[in-house]
Amino acid sequence: MATVIRNGYIYTGGEIVHSDLLIKNGVIAAIGNNLTAEKEINAQGKLVSPGLVDVHVHYRDPGQTEKEDVRTGSLAAAHGGFTTVCAMPNVDPVPNTTDLMAKMVQNNHKAGLVHILQYAPITVDEDSKEIPDYAGLKKAGCVALSNDGKGVQDAQTMFLAMQKARKNNLLIAEHAQDDSLFNHGVMNDGPTARLLKQEPITELAETTQIARDLLLAEKTGVHYHVCHVSTKTSVELIRIAKSHGINVTCEVAPHHLLLGEENIGKDDSNFKMNPPLRTREDQKALIAGLLDGTIDMIATDHAPHTAKDKQGGFKNAAFGIVGSETAFSELYTKFVKTGTFTLQQLLNWLTIAPAKAFGLKKAGRIAINQPADIAIFNLEQKVAINSSDFKSKAKNTPFNQDLVFGQTELTMVDGKIVFQREESK
Ligand SMILES: [Zn+2]
Repeated sequence: MATVIRNGYIYTGGEIVHSDLLIKNGVIAAIGNNLTAEKEINAQGKLVSPGLVDVHVHYRDPGQTEKEDVRTGSLAAAHGGFTTVCAMPNVDPVPNTTDLMAKMVQNNHKAGLVHILQYAPITVDEDSKEIPDYAGLKKAGCVALSNDGKGVQDAQTMFLAMQKARKNNLLIAEHAQDDSLFNHGVMNDGPTARLLKQEPITELAETTQIARDLLLAEKTGVHYHVCHVSTKTSVELIRIAKSHGINVTCEVAPHHLLLGEENIGKDDSNFKMNPPLRTREDQKALIAGLLDGTIDMIATDHAPHTAKDKQGGFKNAAFGIVGSETAFSELYTKFVKTGTFTLQQLLNWLTIAPAKAFGLKKAGRIAINQPADIAIFNLEQKVAINSSDFKSKAKNTPFNQDLVFGQTELTMVDGKIVFQREESK
């Protein structure tokens, strides 16, 4: 069956064009005026975007499905306009063998409403030095390698992992964290931690490991991707590395762009994540890093937890916040509406840029013969974010009750509607 998305503002080829979009057999068949089909979706005045791409989500499945599972995680993604996500492997069991990876890939496909690509671990488990069979894991369908949640502590292990990853043409996505410097901290080392009497996290825990890894990446030639860059120094290091031709890309999380440590105010664990919220100066450097191309993309680090896991304030609560269902509307409202970013820039960082960096040829673009992975956003209507509307099992967000533009009206994967807002049905 064919469908026409009528009269939308379509983001295609880096531009926004006012046009119709024809979908046939799950792929984009035409972009133009006066297109016809048996089914019509009215997108008058709405933004028609490629389905967003998020290279960093945690679905807790298997092992901690009380927090999230593949079904609810992918529903949350669809609700936020995401149609392709990359799921981190810090689940239980870790998919560190060919069989376990094959099972994960199969379940992601079967239970997921969006395209869920699966990371394999860099080491057999996050604390070990043993490197798994990358060739086998790749054959079983992994998209890239990451130990996210923890840094690779041992330099020689990382060096060997990078050599092996390069041989297998796999990207290494690193959660940069030196545990000896991290030292059980819970909040950025700054005035807020001192005021609230919380254990500090020095930025050195992140920056020293990035510096180490950039040198190892230069030596090995591996594609090294830095997860959730959060400090000014991290951006400076990556800027220098790129100017030296090192094969590095990086992502920034929406919360690090939107919030700083002074937004914490009281001991509210919805502001506790790792890396922590940093200073205004860091925030400014992250924005500048996106604008000058040092930071390649935005990724949410969607980290669902139960209410119980987030109890006990900064001292005791788990790290992490959910991100899929607030990313686009928050970023659009706080940065595009205010003129810091253009809409085209924001869409680039959420679609084509991550797809390119991760070699995802079928994701992130509206073009003829591409899969019809589409998100339609309402940029006119202002609404309050309400975490009880989340499709995620988790509600741990610092953005509840924020007034935003950019609600998702409809999300489509391979031409099938996987989310539609009630009022727009
Ligand atoms: Zn991480």
